[in-house]
Amino acid sequence: MKAAVFVGTGEPLAIEDITPNAPGPTDVVVQLGASGVCHSDLSIKNGYVPMPPGYVLGHEGAGTVVEVGSEVNRVKVGDKIVASFVPACGVCIPCLGDQSHLCDAEFEVMTALRGTRPDGNPYLTMTGLGTFAEAMTVSQSSVVKVETDLPFDQLALIGCGVTTGVGAALSTARVQPGASVAIIGCGGVGISVLQGARIAGAGRIIIIDQGEEKRKDAEAQGATDYVDSLAGDPVAQVMALTGGRGVDYSFEVIGLPETTLQAYNMIRKGGTAVMVGMTRAEAQLTISTFDLFYNEKTLKGCKYGSAQVRRDFGKFISLVENGRLDIGSMVSRHIKLEEVNEAFTAMQNREVVRSVITTF
Ligand SMILES: [Zn+2]
Ligand SMILES: [Zn+2]
Repeated sequence: MKAAVFVGTGEPLAIEDITPNAPGPTDVVVQLGASGVCHSDLSIKNGYVPMPPGYVLGHEGAGTVVEVGSEVNRVKVGDKIVASFVPACGVCIPCLGDQSHLCDAEFEVMTALRGTRPDGNPYLTMTGLGTFAEAMTVSQSSVVKVETDLPFDQLALIGCGVTTGVGAALSTARVQPGASVAIIGCGGVGISVLQGARIAGAGRIIIIDQGEEKRKDAEAQGATDYVDSLAGDPVAQVMALTGGRGVDYSFEVIGLPETTLQAYNMIRKGGTAVMVGMTRAEAQLTISTFDLFYNEKTLKGCKYGSAQVRRDFGKFISLVENGRLDIGSMVSRHIKLEEVNEAFTAMQNREVVRSVITTF
């Protein structure tokens, strides 16, 4: 079976013919219909998130169940699924507490050996998925059955970028109607935060990115203001746009301490800053504790849009079906599995919102 494998920091992914193990009792085999190429895949390839070689990358996918283990009870052969890059086991304390995005089964799922590479070594899969492949064997906790006619290229994006971004606005921050929102970073997830803020009824949505090239995309999705961070201090620009008060909510969608500090500094008294971007493990942030206390600010982390995937995937699909959430325009290119390295280059050159693999 063909798959794109991480073989070393900075090296192109290798297209290898891997041999999957037979599924265990609670595993399912999914034939991929589509897989998005996300910035987190690039972060692993480039060593930003250190990983040993031998991983099938890809964590944003949708497909069809083609085989199930003997104890699988959540899906059956023929079901259409969206993969969840954090499993939702349904029985751990976070899952029972409406926080399946913090599911305790995550480590076990992520570290499962799934088969052998051509050189005889075992392979692992990114987040327990590995969507850069013709098929993947995953825990049933990692798949969510969906009933919709939406195409796989759009469903795949619900698996990561859309859920992370829309969920950050709707579930993590709970943006209120009429609120002012600033979003730093206008890639696929940033655009999704923007759409989440729009769906929540935000009154003002300020997008911040470097240069002018993202302005059109941002305005097309309902941004009311666009700030070019190269044209001057973005915090000062946001303050100027809000009469010196700052915004009700800000979102950092890059993953850097510097931009997280900017997000924190551009919220009003009593405001909430949300860090959505994936950050380096060793990165640190220093903030004014007096500002935190005296201005009663909130700085929140956001993992996977605080998503309850079995509840939220269906909700997002309904928003798309009813024309309230636009995923179609985020699918910039359809590519073949073999073109995944070119997709990374296109991402680095900021040519695409998402390249989506639809031919495996
Ligand atoms: Zn992702
Ligand atoms: Zn769980």
